[in-house]
Amino acid sequence: MVIPDRILMGPGPSNPYPEATIGLVRPVIGHLDPAFLQLLDETCDRLRRVWQTDNPLTLPVSGTGSAGMEAAFVNLVGPGDVVVVGVNGLFGERMCDVAGRCGAQVVRVDAPWGEPLDPDDLLRAHPAPKLIALVHAETSTGVRNDVAEVAAGKGGALVLADCVTSLGGIPVDIDRWGVDVAYSGTQKCLGVAPGLAPLTFGPAAWARRVERPQSWYLDLGMIGDYTSSASRKYHHTAPVAMIASLHGGLGALLDEGLETAWARHAACGAALQDGLVKMGLSLWAAEGHRLPELTTVLVPDGVDDAWVRAALLEGYGIEIGGGVGPWAGKVWRIGCMGHTARLRNVTLLLGALAEVLGR
Ligand SMILES: *Cc1c(COP(=O)(O)O)cnc(C)c1O
Repeated sequence: MVIPDRILMGPGPSNPYPEATIGLVRPVIGHLDPAFLQLLDETCDRLRRVWQTDNPLTLPVSGTGSAGMEAAFVNLVGPGDVVVVGVNGLFGERMCDVAGRCGAQVVRVDAPWGEPLDPDDLLRAHPAPKLIALVHAETSTGVRNDVAEVAAGKGGALVLADCVTSLGGIPVDIDRWGVDVAYSGTQKCLGVAPGLAPLTFGPAAWARRVERPQSWYLDLGMIGDYTSSASRKYHHTAPVAMIASLHGGLGALLDEGLETAWARHAACGAALQDGLVKMGLSLWAAEGHRLPELTTVLVPDGVDDAWVRAALLEGYGIEIGGGVGPWAGKVWRIGCMGHTARLRNVTLLLGALAEVLGR
């Protein structure tokens, strides 16, 4: 079969930056080749700039965003640890599951799907939690949660942020905000194919880590012994092609400039949300808390959600996403992330959707 070319406007993957795609077809070299180690070091440096952190332990975890989530929890949370988790969508739910499997005493703080978490609710949920965890950009609902506000009030707790759909698309400022641990994924606003989970782990979190995590593969002590130039001890074979690709994608992002890239995502989100409303559709995520990179819109009454998505894919080569969990069939999720976040793609999607809906 021939793999089709698509405009990827779902909740991820997005279309990779050309520089990221080029990285995938470079010759494969050994994971201990000095040239590769230089590529890896440069990639970790670029990640520090994108995360806006000085954390030495900043690296791409092998695996998708979920591997980043799991790596963060297994290295930080052991049996009996109190973990406050904000839940206003699918990925907050998943954090509860992962923390629970680590043996944590999970204190859940819910907000309705489509609404933001209240930072005060998270900060007041327990007098002395080890960790407060929340999702920055809830991809299941299109809502932005206020990570900076939670980190500002964390007291003696550590803060863990899921930045899978925020990094590269909206401001993420790890050190200034005081976020202790964060992870992301390559295939959303970073504009790289799925396969790596950029992670940053700060010194305060490191001091309170789990010494022998239940996962051997995701043991950040052992992984850090390979990525750190001081030791280079073999742990597992680095996914060389994916790291070359991430190196290229981060280069494109940093050459453009973080501020410019955030502004581009903001302009696309505004144009898309504006256009959808002008078409007579209703946005779902609470006003004032909408993500530019992931827009949710209600499926109009009497319209077949799956039929519309199939028509966009087959007739126009555009992928958008459906709702998940209780919102399956009720909303569409339209991504504008990474290289996809171009006004030309917004214009194309709005025109295609109007044709399909007959509006
Ligand atoms: C996509 C996503 C994940 C999971 O990432 P995978 O790459 O699918 O493993 C986690 N959290 C959020 C907020 C996401 O959008």
